[in-house]
Amino acid sequence: MRANGKIAVVGAGLSGAVIGRDLAQAGHQVEIFDTRDHIAGNCHTQRDQATGVMVHVYGPHIFHTDDTEVWNYVNSFQRFLPYKNRVKTTSNGQVYSLPVNLHTINQFFGKNFRPDEARAFIEEQADKSISEPKTFEEQALRFVGQDLYEAFFKGYTQKQWGCSPTELPASVLKRLPVRFNYDDNYFFHKYQGMPENGYTRMVEHILDHPNITVKLGTHFDRAEGKDFRHVFYSGPLDGYFNYEFGRLGYRTLDFERFTYDGDYQGCAVMNYADVSVPYTRITEHKHFSPWEEHAGSVCYRETARVCGPEDIAYYPIRLVKEKEQLADYVARAEQEASVTFVGRLGTYRYLDMDVTIREALDTARLYLSRLAESAPM
Ligand code: UDP
Repeated sequence: MRANGKIAVVGAGLSGAVIGRDLAQAGHQVEIFDTRDHIAGNCHTQRDQATGVMVHVYGPHIFHTDDTEVWNYVNSFQRFLPYKNRVKTTSNGQVYSLPVNLHTINQFFGKNFRPDEARAFIEEQADKSISEPKTFEEQALRFVGQDLYEAFFKGYTQKQWGCSPTELPASVLKRLPVRFNYDDNYFFHKYQGMPENGYTRMVEHILDHPNITVKLGTHFDRAEGKDFRHVFYSGPLDGYFNYEFGRLGYRTLDFERFTYDGDYQGCAVMNYADVSVPYTRITEHKHFSPWEEHAGSVCYRETARVCGPEDIAYYPIRLVKEKEQLADYVARAEQEASVTFVGRLGTYRYLDMDVTIREALDTARLYLSRLAESAPM
């Protein structure tokens, strides 16, 4: 197929890079714009000069998926090495294993239950009067009961989301499993790993194509869209429409970086469940690359708060108010025939990396097949 007219891709994160690559391979000239001075969006990684540790600059990103095509895709640009996300949490002065598993249950209740006994015991704790949990709190009370909820979820969630778990949808907690065995792998997925040389190197390889030009530190103005055959926009949806229906709410994160001579906490992620501790978690980045050895250490103490206009948006809030605003923006977006809104910010959804890549691949394919259908024979 011969392409005529350049394609603009706004954002050099996963969505933009994957779409740009597919279109470039199909023969299109692709220009990718990003306001930041680096590629890879929020999964940007950078080696710390002093210690050599690969730092997840915008907080931890762990790749996990059931999607074989996506797994093969990322591995074709960067070798992924084995990494299992094993998270610990500190609650009321003790360290426990997450997600809630048989070890957590036995330690917390001072028992030595076997799986069936633990299941029956937790079922006794559960609030069975809740038949269809709608809120985060109801979901927790229904599945783990009051004590585990208060020890591990209530305070953490208040800190993370800045509101009561009674205001959040049950879906937020559904991301986390409860296990009646000693499996402490945070994720269920068939494939899990870390890119050997970081996500930024992976994205660099995705973007390495003669038909792709990347313009960093460059704001893409909506009016520039007319110079392109099509625009794939992975920037903030509300920003594209000049916040016409107000700003969509996000949580942002602050990272207080510190270094340590040695091993600070012995694991990559330590959550802090109590509200008396202001931060939600500490990440120790060298443990994200367990195959590397570093004497020094780089850690982030992480705190969540309301996202202001100048802050980096992390978690879409998606409560009732935001959902109404979102519906207005989506209706406006549908009127833009030559713009496709993609990714976490472009669609205002909390997306894992594998889903982002899957959607980007599908979006590029759909665009190319529509183009092929409309091309004169
Ligand atoms: N959560 C919690 N305690 C924890 C970890 C998570 O209460 O120790 C809650 C919190 O509300 C969080 C949700 O479970 O937003 C989903 O957890 P996940 O680890 O998936 O968080 P994310 O990857 O979104 O940061």
